[in-house]
Amino acid sequence: MSLTTDPELRTSLEATPDLPAAQQPLWPDAAALDAAVTELATYPPLVFAGECDVLRDRMAAASRGDAFVLQGGDCAETFAGATADNIKNRIKTILQMAAVLTYGASVPVVKVGRMAGQFAKPRSSHTETREGVTLPAYRGDMVNDFEFTEAARNPDPQRLVKAYHASSATLNLVRAFTTGGFADLRHVHDWNRGFVANSANQRYEKIARDIDKAMKFMAACGADFEAMKGTEFFAAHEALLLDYERPLTRVDSRTGDLYDTSAHFVWIGERTRDLGGAHLDFVSRIHNPIGVKVSAKAQVDDLLRMIDLVDPERTPGRLTFITRMGAGQVRESLPSIVEKVTASGAAVTWICDPMHGNTFESASGYKTRDFEDVVDEVRGFFEVHQALGTVPGGIHVELTGNDVTECIGGAEKILDADLNKRYETVCDPRLNHQQSLELAFLVAEMLSR
Ligand code: PEP
Ligand code: MN
Repeated sequence: MSLTTDPELRTSLEATPDLPAAQQPLWPDAAALDAAVTELATYPPLVFAGECDVLRDRMAAASRGDAFVLQGGDCAETFAGATADNIKNRIKTILQMAAVLTYGASVPVVKVGRMAGQFAKPRSSHTETREGVTLPAYRGDMVNDFEFTEAARNPDPQRLVKAYHASSATLNLVRAFTTGGFADLRHVHDWNRGFVANSANQRYEKIARDIDKAMKFMAACGADFEAMKGTEFFAAHEALLLDYERPLTRVDSRTGDLYDTSAHFVWIGERTRDLGGAHLDFVSRIHNPIGVKVSAKAQVDDLLRMIDLVDPERTPGRLTFITRMGAGQVRESLPSIVEKVTASGAAVTWICDPMHGNTFESASGYKTRDFEDVVDEVRGFFEVHQALGTVPGGIHVELTGNDVTECIGGAEKILDADLNKRYETVCDPRLNHQQSLELAFLVAEMLSR
């Protein structure tokens, strides 16, 4: 199968931007933007349509309870952060979490990295003021640089091109790690190597030993291990900048359908999901599996109209609602949404994002999250679905494989006073390696109940 860039298609995609598109950068130079978009349109796809279809089937399985989705990665990737070590640590963390979930709950885990494209961020304001100086807000490395200087904050369309190359290099390493033998279940111990010893690691070692034993047993029985040499791993990011997503949208030569080839799964954020907006219009035209963030503020009628727009055929796996209510709200706000959406006959996959409803500013001034709140929101999500007889299909978390100190709590008991030790995110606070593993153990327990 091949994908082609069709000039007519580009024209038709570009003919729609009359719709209001929220959260787009104020590019200073239209000609430079045009050059970057034209360049992107000539580049090879990062993913293939057939892979997106496989993921749609996996999301459908998750909507039925036959699989569980684990989606994780940085809030905002950076170009400087796209190093072999960072990528490897993130993949190892996701593989470890998946092993814990699979082993603990006997359910296949659909692994989705929030990576290889997560370079753009919605912001509450176009500008940021520090000590009397006002500059453009940081909108992600795809737009400008985090450094607070005029030159760095100036939106530069060539960054769209750079984001493509960074995504391509990231995805190449992801594919190498996940299909080249490293993700082989006979390497479960190796995924734990290189991390500072902690209680979650030690607990993981125990599971790894059990998995080892099971593998040896199966080997002795003559099992075929070829299928376990690699693992499926999908890439996802928020489809925020239409000047990036549109030129990477291509025609699938098998079917004539459109796919956004920048990622297998793209989602629309809480701030860009307006019904008359360009973002929902865009995703309604592409055939990738699609996510939409849903907060406690969502109106059910809007969600039902959104389903009609994005998933008129009610295709299982096509649409995922990533709910992010907050630990204090989830038990109250989620039930009526799930109930009414289910009653409408829609077959959406429900995923819990326990991060974005639980952000607060700590006393020392850091944007943080409390591990307890994260766990409590997932718990509430499971409770709501169990009470309604619907399916908790997965989790979506902001995490890193590094030992950062960005979220408080966890077994390590990170305190407000610790946050300054390794606060490295350029956007939202992430679970560190240990907190991520701890969460996986807790979710495995919730899943196996
Ligand atoms: C995010 O996922 O980083 C984000 C901005 O989330 P939301 O759209 O849910 O606020
Ligand atoms: Mn975030």
